[in-house]
Amino acid sequence: MQTPRRRDRGLNPGPQNCEADALTSWLPRNFQIVIKTRTRVLCHRMAEGIPRELLMNTALINELVEVAKDTAVLQGFVVRIKESPNSSEEVTHAPITLFPTPVPKALFLQAIAVQTHYNTLVDKISRDPEFLQEALGSTIAVDDFTARLFKIHQQVLKRGRLQSIVLGLNRSDYMLDQEDGPSSLKQIEINTFAAASGGLASRMPDVHRHILKVAGRLEESQRIIDNNPAVGLAKAVAKAWELYGSKRAVVMFLVGENEINTLDQRIIENELWKWNIASIRKYFEDVSESGKLDEDKRLFIDYQEVAVVYFRNGYNPQNYKSEKAWEARLMMECSLAVKCPDISTHLAGTKKVQQVLAEPGVLERFFPDQPQVVDQVRATFAGLYTLDMGEEGDKTVAMALATPDRFVLKPQREGGGNNIYGQEICELLGKVKNSAKRMAYILMDKVQPVPTQNYLLRRGKPHKICNCITELGFFGAYVRQGKDMVINDCVGYLLKTKSSEHPDGGVFAGVAVLDSALLF
Ligand code: ADP
Ligand code: MG
Repeated sequence: MQTPRRRDRGLNPGPQNCEADALTSWLPRNFQIVIKTRTRVLCHRMAEGIPRELLMNTALINELVEVAKDTAVLQGFVVRIKESPNSSEEVTHAPITLFPTPVPKALFLQAIAVQTHYNTLVDKISRDPEFLQEALGSTIAVDDFTARLFKIHQQVLKRGRLQSIVLGLNRSDYMLDQEDGPSSLKQIEINTFAAASGGLASRMPDVHRHILKVAGRLEESQRIIDNNPAVGLAKAVAKAWELYGSKRAVVMFLVGENEINTLDQRIIENELWKWNIASIRKYFEDVSESGKLDEDKRLFIDYQEVAVVYFRNGYNPQNYKSEKAWEARLMMECSLAVKCPDISTHLAGTKKVQQVLAEPGVLERFFPDQPQVVDQVRATFAGLYTLDMGEEGDKTVAMALATPDRFVLKPQREGGGNNIYGQEICELLGKVKNSAKRMAYILMDKVQPVPTQNYLLRRGKPHKICNCITELGFFGAYVRQGKDMVINDCVGYLLKTKSSEHPDGGVFAGVAVLDSALLF
């Protein structure tokens, strides 16, 4: 990143930028060095994480729970509460695990290494209208929401893409599969739209380090590596803003109403201010009421020019409360503003595209001369199966009905709580197996991680030890201008942990909590 431009009314970048530069050391090369130095001494002694005697020491656990909550608050590791989602007058500690979760270093590094290829892949898909048409043809025939997004994509193509700057902020989520022998990294999904928690994740390491110190586990506390996705995400947004080239223009966070994760977004907003880049927060309604395009298709909201639209809302049908919201989306997509993501990158993140990518020869289409990259990406795929009409789809139905517990049935929805498991798979497929309605879903192998024991701390809920399943997400950030990838990085990670009682559900759905990795 070059020295950030000064905004007209802004101050000099100042010392904060030095801090920001130092924090961007969360990059693969440096990162590996950090991991090596921090873990070399300890690995041979401690294969796993938190010893059982500590987990069972009730008096100490009670004390640590208080310490954890206080430390979270002191570190600004907080979220708003559902009773007053629009105000920070009352906030609570972010939902967290008491202890970090052991993660094999090799798999962690594998995910970092593959992230830049995922960035490239998503970007290439977004530039391949024929592929998107082929991949999503069956889905859009039966899924109204995806069809609506696809229509916007077509309208944009028809009018011609005006903006050659592309900004992608995504998060590729994995679980560690341990069904057959040693654990392996299996992708759950890639979120190309509104990938959340990169701000909050930046506050997590210090909280877990502190808890471990108080618990007398100094060595483990030193094995928690730095993690600051917010800096890398903001750096990419800042680059897109800079390339857009208008000092007065702002970054617009397109947000939802009554969200409790506003502070997660604020952390990124505040990082942008370190480059003296201003942001505004707007709803779809604001854009419909006061958004306009000028004759050059520059986007203005309340007469303020928007350089970057960062969508943190708009991934589910309920986010579009009226036709006006859809019109606002179309207007933003047709504008000169850089969209994060643009409509085609949004579609590249659908579960149907994920399933099609797993078909033979499809990755080769995107990496024709890079067999190693194909292998690296494919190694992270779990089994994915089509439910399109025809022989393949019929086989998928038969397989799912025979052993439903081996699979997850997924519609084209985001945000947790939408997937179907176990007996409900049979009930649903029983109804739709002979109709085109089944094409709205994909089937996926259920990843089988080994649970670990931990305490989940959530406002208003008593803490008790439980068997937990952890999901690892890696944040990708890229900026392309025309043919040049100006930035392509893995900028940090997120660990989410939930009780194994719940098959599904995210952090803001009230099921999972934030966690950090204890590498071994
Ligand atoms: P969403 O877009 O709604 O977040 P995901 O595909 O990420 O959908 O699934 C939501 C949750 O369901 C995941 O966080 C994970 O806990 C669980 N899940 C999804 N796919 C699988 C799978 N293949 N194996 C095991 N659990 C899964
Ligand atoms: Mg998800």
